[in-house]
Amino acid sequence: MKAQKAYKLARDNVKCCYLCGKEEIKVLGCCVPDDPTKWISGKPAPGKTRTFWYGLCEECFKLPDKAELVEKKIESELN
Ligand SMILES: [Zn+2]
Repeated sequence: MKAQKAYKLARDNVKCCYLCGKEEIKVLGCCVPDDPTKWISGKPAPGKTRTFWYGLCEECFKLPDKAELVEKKIESELN
């Protein structure tokens, strides 16, 4: 149930493709960092993990290295 709520929230907030910016989300992805503090400054509340939601358009979803591209973009934005 919790995951569903998070998904809905992400769905409402994610409007553009994370990689190319196109306003056409085909797939909603969720990234859970191994070490949340690596990506997001500050520590998450105890017992909670931080997830990063992103949307991809059909074209970007077809990229074989999409996961890698997304991770690199997240890292470069948060560094
Ligand atoms: Zn795209």
